[in-house]
Amino acid sequence: MKTLRHAVPALWLITGLLLAVMVLGGSMPLSATIARASIGNGIVAALTDDQQIFLEAPPLPGEGLQAYARRLTGDGDQVGEITRLNGKRPRRLLADVRYRVRFEALTARYQLAAIQALFPKDRSLATGWQHHVTISVSLWRLAEWLTGDGLNFTAIREHNNLSDEVLSHGQALIIPGDLLLPAFRTTLPETMTAHDLRYVDDGAADFAIYRLKKGEALYSAVVVRFTGGTFADDVNALAAELADLNGISDVTDMPVGQRVRIPFDLLLPEFLPATHPRRMEYEKDRSEREKHSNTVRATSLEGITVLLDAGHGGQDPGTIVSGTWESVYVYDITLRVKKLLESTTAARVFTTTRDGSNFQIHDADILPRSRNHRVLTTPPYAIEDAKVAANLRWYLANSQHRSAVGKSGNAAKTVFLSIHADSLPRSHRGAMIYIPAASLTRGQYGKTGTVYSSRREVKEKPRVEYSWQERTRSEGLSRQLAQNLLQSLRDHGLAIHKQKPIRDRIIRCRRCRPWVPAVVRYNAVPPKLLLEVCNLNNPEDRRLIRTRSFRQRMAEAIVDGILAYYGQSNASSKPRTAR
Ligand SMILES: [Zn+2]
Repeated sequence: MKTLRHAVPALWLITGLLLAVMVLGGSMPLSATIARASIGNGIVAALTDDQQIFLEAPPLPGEGLQAYARRLTGDGDQVGEITRLNGKRPRRLLADVRYRVRFEALTARYQLAAIQALFPKDRSLATGWQHHVTISVSLWRLAEWLTGDGLNFTAIREHNNLSDEVLSHGQALIIPGDLLLPAFRTTLPETMTAHDLRYVDDGAADFAIYRLKKGEALYSAVVVRFTGGTFADDVNALAAELADLNGISDVTDMPVGQRVRIPFDLLLPEFLPATHPRRMEYEKDRSEREKHSNTVRATSLEGITVLLDAGHGGQDPGTIVSGTWESVYVYDITLRVKKLLESTTAARVFTTTRDGSNFQIHDADILPRSRNHRVLTTPPYAIEDAKVAANLRWYLANSQHRSAVGKSGNAAKTVFLSIHADSLPRSHRGAMIYIPAASLTRGQYGKTGTVYSSRREVKEKPRVEYSWQERTRSEGLSRQLAQNLLQSLRDHGLAIHKQKPIRDRIIRCRRCRPWVPAVVRYNAVPPKLLLEVCNLNNPEDRRLIRTRSFRQRMAEAIVDGILAYYGQSNASSKPRTAR
């Protein structure tokens, strides 16, 4: 193997960049800065001559070292490292001083911002991250920044047919999508994940072939990822079907490199070949909905209405695992979101349900069970039938949305969030988001019967139907909101479902039709989603949701995600009090 050279930056570098600033006057020897670029809010990304990237960021007003570390790195434990890097221990952070934070310690969002600022020509393509060499850095360093591991330089070199690891000015190369750190991978078009499949036509039927990688199981690597099945029973059934088809006798003991044939009719459309009719329809819809993006900006969410829906409640506890009721835990998170929005933003907030006669947040880790949730229609509905409640939720949300539009005159100033917790196979961790697929929300719909017709919100508008234009726009905006939420969850150090964390449909089994949950399916609010905050079947997720600190952190992440959707960086939001 060749030895690695960390190429010394060439002297032809624009002299204007040669600032060689000794930032902060710290006691440690600092290398010369060869490039600096602003990422906004007074924050600067800096590249030094020994090929290190730093963020130089001033503290927010009144921000302590701990909060500063948490904001930029997502982790209060980085305090020691930040102090060490900045020479001496600052008792308190000085308002007009920019302190340095290592690139490797930054949150995904700041890593992405730093790279984008320092290398403004870089962009994400269908095949991966395209890097334009404007400043001479070694391939090793580039691999470290973008993939988290310098050793990936060989894979990058092979992918780009490079003969050497020294890059020359003006050159463009691709860092393949499957190597990228999440910060960069999430910027790629979704179809990127399909590149591991090979397509074959064996004469009788079309198949995709996937080769299992180290540590992968049939359930998560193939079934959940490529077929979209998520419910434990269906995943098991699909896995059994695939095992049968592939002559696999023991799904728990499969060698690395095992070939798994997957029939086309099981594949999600985005994993089909580019010329397959189902894939083409999917791409057409996708390019259509990508035309829609949120243009509303709202400082402190002024003029924004946030509709919050806590899943289940009353006689419907939702998923129950080891005595943990989904209904009471997601209701608690919902109330925390409401309280944060009301105390730190100017948004108007409504919830679709209430437990008892007032909104009370329990100051406890383990929450008391309750069956007293009502849907807040006029008159309220004490939840007995989960289906009736689900329908009344969207009728109520639509009514609140109509009145909000009446005030603001702008349908894009309402968001709807339904908050749930998942019941996936136990190995899966983290949050997942459902948004409505435009193709699955067509048709006219309305309910009859006195339980409905006795409610004011139903009488106002008993039936709904949305045009193709409205549905496509809603899907586009919902996806954008979902992306903002997931990025915020990542920034807050919360777990995200590994494969396809944003889904536009629920697939229960192979031969039944995919569907969209009613509460978002018939909902008139353009940006809307159903957030599964974690997987109750996973022991670690379940342990976490039974703590106040997790539920508070989740609420903070949700609020920051909504702020981001309306163009407000969470870095500009006020520092919050202790959790
Ligand atoms: Zn649920």
